[in-house]
Amino acid sequence: MSLDQKYDAIVVGGGHNGLVAAAYLAKAGKSVVLLEGATELGGATTSVRPFPEYDAKLSRYSYLVSLLPDQIVADLGINFKTLERSIASYTPIRKDGEDSGLLISQRWDERTAEDFRKLTGSDKEGQAWQGFYNEIAELAERIAPYMLKPLKSASELKSEIGLPDVWDYLMERPIGEVIKERFQDDVVRGVVLTDALIGTFVSADDLQANRCFLYHLIGNGTGQWRVPQGGMGALVIELKRVAELNGVKINLNSYVTDIDSDENGVAVTTSSGAKYSAQDLLFAGAPQTLAKLRGKSAPKSLEGSQMKINMLLSKLPQLKSGVDPKLAFAGTFHINESYSQLENSYQVAKSGQIPGDLPLEMYCHTLTDPTILSPELNQRGFHTLTLFGLHTPAALFDKDPEGSKELAKKAAIESLNQYLAEPIESVLAVCKDGSLAIEAKSPLDLENDLGLPRGNIFHRDLDFPFIDGTERNELTWGSETDDSRIFLAGAGARRGGGVSGIAGHNAAMAVLSKH
Ligand SMILES: Cc1cc2nc3c(=O)[nH]c(=O)nc-3n(C[C@H](O)[C@H](O)[C@H](O)COP(=O)(O)OP(=O)(O)OC[C@H]3O[C@@H](n4cnc5c(N)ncnc54)[C@H](O)[C@@H]3O)c2cc1C
Repeated sequence: MSLDQKYDAIVVGGGHNGLVAAAYLAKAGKSVVLLEGATELGGATTSVRPFPEYDAKLSRYSYLVSLLPDQIVADLGINFKTLERSIASYTPIRKDGEDSGLLISQRWDERTAEDFRKLTGSDKEGQAWQGFYNEIAELAERIAPYMLKPLKSASELKSEIGLPDVWDYLMERPIGEVIKERFQDDVVRGVVLTDALIGTFVSADDLQANRCFLYHLIGNGTGQWRVPQGGMGALVIELKRVAELNGVKINLNSYVTDIDSDENGVAVTTSSGAKYSAQDLLFAGAPQTLAKLRGKSAPKSLEGSQMKINMLLSKLPQLKSGVDPKLAFAGTFHINESYSQLENSYQVAKSGQIPGDLPLEMYCHTLTDPTILSPELNQRGFHTLTLFGLHTPAALFDKDPEGSKELAKKAAIESLNQYLAEPIESVLAVCKDGSLAIEAKSPLDLENDLGLPRGNIFHRDLDFPFIDGTERNELTWGSETDDSRIFLAGAGARRGGGVSGIAGHNAAMAVLSKH
């Protein structure tokens, strides 16, 4: 094999994790080449102008940040800020023909207490809410630092964290059971449950939901979901700057089609026939892709199950409940996400149908960070809305990808319009060709656009951030594979998933601890 370019490390995949891995290695003095198959960096963390005539840069795929540790931002010296949303969530409610809602502030306040009281008739549910989330906040603070350290066993971590009751209900008992025990109201239960179901096609009683729930609540020690200033693409721009500053060579349009490994190191070939060799390879695409390239069988995983819909609005729509849209859309806006609606939708989707009352959540980036719009659009009162529809698994789109996507988009719009005083279509910006400024991405689009297997936003099923006894010798950082020269550096590594950079950091540490 003729090898023309030799490095200490090859990083395959220029999503944010690949960039983090490459930057850490280069900062440690390693020569690194990063090979990205697409024409641009970023993977699921890109910002784009989906409606070119409008100067509005939307986070096309991922949109909020919680899991990225401050330590990574500081270690790499990136200029990337996230902003707090004043509102945590709003859930519009229609009961006996009357429209109301549950508005929850980022920090508990009298307005929030009053909404809980109105919905449930007493202070009990609000107190249950505060008790539950205070317990989890304690665990979040204690467990977060372990994300950037070698893995512990479950028993070691449980004893070091020292909150055995919280541990038991988060890691060992189905989260659905716990939620039903702690909360009485169907809407409140649903608001809690949604964090367990983002991108995860399971029932509330499946432990996979616990894993999703855990990662949604422990990010950076607070679990707070924050707005990336300048959009998600701002993170990529900074990571690229720092990687290149430290000497990383970045090659775009370099899809890796072949990986070889022997005692001399690793060698890869790209689709254009370019060859690279190195001591180590960090694969920051999906583990299923790595397995395919190595001729191995792919790890089993659930498929992705979400619709992502991006919208540009000429103004925020009024709501039937009369709440100020600037409050309602500033946090996470839940629709059809009561506990029973979520469970019903899961059953409907499992039977092969797109759920009618599609459960979904949305938020408006521009209410917290207007910088993604031009001054002119800001002045005209434009806003962006990001919609994430649950329980729409890839299998629903296989037979007729475009037709099913239209149906799911229609279901999402109808679900949303149930709560709006003016239909969303009437406030969508209009493009030059007369079309409305709305784009939808199904799980199959995510597979085609980004290589996410079956549209799984975490590459594969999330794992708990610890190992059991049988894995002790194989996994130290959660990045190791059965080849001592090949590491997983993307979301599919243990503790990966989401915009966190943790998988990239840990793979780099695994490599550095070898040499
Ligand atoms: C619609 C959507 C919404 C989301 N929302 C959020 C959110 O709000 N907050 C959050 O924390 N997380 C969110 N996520 C999840 C999060 O974005 C991902 O888990 C994370 O960005 C994955 O990052 P990564 O760098 O590991 O992989 P990716 O971003 O998937 O990047 C992998 C890169 O590797 C490249 N690649 C793959 N194979 C090869 C190859 N053979 N050769 C060369 N290059 C290759 C790909 O082109 C891609 O650029 C969302 C994801 C999606 C899709």
